[in-house]
Amino acid sequence: MIIKKSADEIATMRRAGHIVAKTLELIEKKIKPGVLTEQLDAAAEEFIRESGARPAFKGYKGFPASICASLNEVVVHGIPGKRRLQEGDIISIDVGAEVDGYYADAAATFPVGEISAEAQRLMDVTKSSLEDGIAKCVEGNYLYDVSHAIQTRAEAAGYSVVREFVGHGIGRAMHEEPQIPNFGSPGKGPRLQAGMVFAIEPMVNIGGYKVEILQDDWTVVTADRTLSAHFEHTVAITGAEPVLLTVL
Ligand code: MG
Repeated sequence: MIIKKSADEIATMRRAGHIVAKTLELIEKKIKPGVLTEQLDAAAEEFIRESGARPAFKGYKGFPASICASLNEVVVHGIPGKRRLQEGDIISIDVGAEVDGYYADAAATFPVGEISAEAQRLMDVTKSSLEDGIAKCVEGNYLYDVSHAIQTRAEAAGYSVVREFVGHGIGRAMHEEPQIPNFGSPGKGPRLQAGMVFAIEPMVNIGGYKVEILQDDWTVVTADRTLSAHFEHTVAITGAEPVLLTVL
């Protein structure tokens, strides 16, 4: 069942989302060659807690950190650690925060110094695919209109969308129904109604869509080890216009 949220609940989620957006802004400023991914995590955790929120990922199913830090061929769920950022890397940062029992979740991929034109294009296309998906988040559309818009943009660029990991409803839990695939046929799935809130998160690969999970049981990499990018926003459906909750 898709749990609809009241205006007050969405307002609380917006507070959580604002902290998530501020955290991503802070992390972006710290991303440069030589920085350890665990330093980014420490800065994020400190900021989230100082802001009166709880880092939603820390301890989630045993995840050891407050952010996911996914470099290059890592799709999602990279664990921050002793890996040092290098010029030319791309790094996807995923952040979740809980405020007064409500969650918000967002991600973005950032360049480390100068990156290749190919990596920049992947990031641009992935971000555009999220924007196309968000544009479909209006009352009366079907859920897979969102999915189809994302897939269409990514595949038109010659890329693939990850199948095994998908977006999700969000609210009093970080993951609620429905699952929101980044691929699908338009006109299918549940009708979108005001009060639904979704975390929409295309993961786009330069190569094939297949992924593998590394031995740490978290880190998801592209099976062909090509680059992957990830952008995510928490979006409320309120009527004719989608409302982003994970914004400054
Ligand atoms: Mg998410």
